[in-house]
Amino acid sequence: MDLHDFGRVMALEEDGLMAFFQDHGLLRRQLHCTTCSRQYSTIKWKKATVVHYVLRCPSCRTKKKLTTDTMFEGAHLHMRKLLALIYLWAYNICVGTATTMSGASSATVVQWCFGVFRMFWGGFGILGCLCVFCVFGVF
Ligand SMILES: [Zn+2]
Repeated sequence: MDLHDFGRVMALEEDGLMAFFQDHGLLRRQLHCTTCSRQYSTIKWKKATVVHYVLRCPSCRTKKKLTTDTMFEGAHLHMRKLLALIYLWAYNICVGTATTMSGASSATVVQWCFGVFRMFWGGFGILGCLCVFCVFGVF
C-alpha cells in the first residue's frame, strides 16, 4: 500500500473505513446472539469508541462492539488513528515521528506499535511490514 492508496483509505467516510477494516478481518462483521440465535444487525452508536457502530440483536437488543475478540478490543482510539499507527509501524517509523504524524501521544504510539501490533503480527520493521501487507492484501 503506497502513500497514495493509504491517503485514499484515510479519506473514506466512517462507513467505508469500517468496511475496509472488516474486509481485512480487523473488525467483526457478523455475530450470532447466544440467547436468541439471531444474527446481529449493525447500527450506529455514537458512544462506541473505535467505530461509531455496534452489532445489535434484533430480538433482545443486546449490543456487541465491532471490536469484540479483535486486537482493538478495549481501544479508545478511532480506527482512522489506529490505521495511521499501523501504517507508520509497518514502515518502521520511529516513535517521535509517529507521534507527530499521527497526533497520538508517545505513550499511545508505544502501547500500540511496540505492544499490540507486535504481539498480533509478531516482529517489527520488515517482519511487521510483511505481516501488515498480508493483512491489507498488498505485497
Ligand atoms: Zn438476542
